[in-house]
Amino acid sequence: PRLANQIAAGEVVERPASVVKEVLENSLDAGATKLDIDVDNGGIKRIRVRDNGCGIGKDDLPLALSRHATSKIYDLDDLEAVATLGFRGEALASISSVARLALTSNTQASGQGWQACAEGRDMETEVAPAAHPQGTTVEVRDLFFNTPARRKFLRTEKTEFNRIDDVVKRISLSRFDVGVTLNHNQRAIYNMRAADSQAERERRVAQVCGPAFMQNALHIDIERAGLRLWGWVALPAFSRSQADLQYFYVNGRSIRDKLVTHAVRQAYQDILYHGRHPAFVLYLELDPAVVDVNVHPTKHEVRFRDGRLVHDFLFRSLHHALADVKP
Ligand code: ADP
Ligand code: MG
Repeated sequence: PRLANQIAAGEVVERPASVVKEVLENSLDAGATKLDIDVDNGGIKRIRVRDNGCGIGKDDLPLALSRHATSKIYDLDDLEAVATLGFRGEALASISSVARLALTSNTQASGQGWQACAEGRDMETEVAPAAHPQGTTVEVRDLFFNTPARRKFLRTEKTEFNRIDDVVKRISLSRFDVGVTLNHNQRAIYNMRAADSQAERERRVAQVCGPAFMQNALHIDIERAGLRLWGWVALPAFSRSQADLQYFYVNGRSIRDKLVTHAVRQAYQDILYHGRHPAFVLYLELDPAVVDVNVHPTKHEVRFRDGRLVHDFLFRSLHHALADVKP
């Protein structure tokens, strides 16, 4: 397609949830241990993320917002392409090209806060003093205000919020050591402190997956031949009509993978009614050298060097854990 080369050069912002994901990942990259997320109207009107990470120095603020000269894409409404490509390291520039963005930050070294704003493609960023504690606040308002075609593609505020909620849930379960709050239209959705103990971790899982999940969950922690699988699997009684409570992490990164799904399903096979889906929060840890989690930046796929070994380990571990509760 004609647009392919242009798209490959950069800019992709799909929806409010993709903004939240990129911004939160930046915060985690900056070493934040606290993420405060406020969104209004499904994130379409406003997304604000405040972190306590390392911050961005005054001189680096405009740089953080600037795009590479090669990615001047001015009429990109190819939604198919948007759905399949990632940000390629230009998240903030991409976001600011389709929204009103304010970046406020304070580093330990500067001892004072600074703010840079960008709006649409007018990339003139001025840096002005602004009060801010150490860390960074990214505020994104009026997403797609200058790209009506993309705005039209957005779903209802409720649907867009649910996608944001999903992103926040996935990140919350990937980092128990990070405190997370989420407000939607000024209403508190989550307020989760950093969880150190097992009890605190289980409280977080209950907040994210619901108390009924936790009440019906088996805690597992199995290690064999350099592979470790830990987390919580719901008993068959808590199976779902949708595959909506399935969290799987490989070395801390959220993934959705056919091999994993297949192994889990097989373990449940003879104890789950037809059409029901298992619910789980699982963490697989293995030598990073035998897994490639960067197969695609946005698709959350992985490639195991020995897929069969991993499949067998997952199946056996879960089957064994579930065997005891088989009716
Ligand atoms: P990338 O994350 O791929 O480098 P981004 O556009 O997402 O690209 O971010 C640009 C830069 O801005 C980052 O490399 C980082 O230096 C800085 N940055 C963005 N968000 C934060 C944050 N919350 N805290 C500290 N630095 C940040
Ligand atoms: Mg980034």
